[in-house]
Amino acid sequence: MGSAGNWLKEERRKTLGDWASVCLACGFAQRYFDEWEAELPTACPQCEGEMRWRCPACDARFTSVFTVECEACGVELRPRELFGVPIRKPGR
Ligand SMILES: [Zn+2]
Ligand SMILES: [Zn+2]
Repeated sequence: MGSAGNWLKEERRKTLGDWASVCLACGFAQRYFDEWEAELPTACPQCEGEMRWRCPACDARFTSVFTVECEACGVELRPRELFGVPIRKPGR
């Protein structure tokens, strides 16, 4: 089992992460560390859209929660229009 020292590290990690996972539908994003990858939700907790944390083309991971295209190969991961524009406008 872990030591008390590990505990503190874990605590700090909750707000950070080396990598990012993003929702393709609503732009929700979360950061994560290597060891969390296996436990990442595949569905967005906000809209149940698809979460993605690897480039579909080259398998590179994302370092930014604002990732819209793969940093390694440039493939577009989600539409840029999502940013700053509400996806679902209230009412009609
Ligand atoms: Zn979402
Ligand atoms: Zn890529």
